[in-house]
Amino acid sequence: MPEITLLGTGSPIPDPNRAGPSTLVRADGQVFLVDCGRGVLQRAAAVGVGAGGLSALLLTHLHSDHIAELGDVLITRWVTNFAPDPEPLPIIGPPGTAEVVEATLKAFGHDIGYRIAHHDDLTAPPPQDVRECTEGTVWHRDGVTIRVAPTDHRPVAPTIGFRIESGGASVVLAGDTVPCDSLDELAAGADALVHTVIRKDIVTHSPQQRIKDICDYHSSVQEAAATANRAGVATLVMTHYVPAIVPGQEEQWRALAATEFGGHIELGDDLHRVEVHARH
Ligand SMILES: [Zn+2]
Ligand SMILES: [Zn+2]
Repeated sequence: MPEITLLGTGSPIPDPNRAGPSTLVRADGQVFLVDCGRGVLQRAAAVGVGAGGLSALLLTHLHSDHIAELGDVLITRWVTNFAPDPEPLPIIGPPGTAEVVEATLKAFGHDIGYRIAHHDDLTAPPPQDVRECTEGTVWHRDGVTIRVAPTDHRPVAPTIGFRIESGGASVVLAGDTVPCDSLDELAAGADALVHTVIRKDIVTHSPQQRIKDICDYHSSVQEAAATANRAGVATLVMTHYVPAIVPGQEEQWRALAATEFGGHIELGDDLHRVEVHARH
């Protein structure tokens, strides 16, 4: 039975109470980190998951808020893995991911050099296993299957969503996207859809055009809910709240989603957990 933990429910705007976009999916003993926003390893530590415990890192796209802690994940996993020949962390993301991983390791090149010089048992930089893709099955291991499909977050492109299946249950992670056919298809019949949302009714009133611009390529609460409705998912899990949910206004967000979606709706703070049960 897969379990979703919203590690970071924030956005690019730093928030004292919300880490950057990151979601943990645990299924069949495997641990998938979906995006790695600001503060992700601190939040993961709160649920007993360390960088060394990750089965794979799944990246929906290469916007900074979604990959802010890529360096921390890579370096911390490397330094805290005491196996003589450590397994590389599989990183599955859209084209461009390999370049970002390589550049990140280059940025930490001094650090990597210091540690290799200092520790006799560290003899090589962090091993890499980057798989770039835009669609198809990307993971098939010990009862867990992961499929990828394109999303639409243009001009950020390509961007992808993930569908994780285990034990007859399915979790879809949409990332940042406007509604699109390929996401509808990926999410069809899923038990849970984790979707980023923004309040266009609020953001559109910003005096700053640069803030208003974000409406162009994100789904509103209602649009994410309509996607969940079209796809026939059982549970919609909203995250990446822009602006951050004001305490006490959770029901307002839920009511907006309920105008388009009659299923179960989840939202919450960092570390909010959702158990996913197969319907069929
Ligand atoms: Zn984005
Ligand atoms: Zn984002």
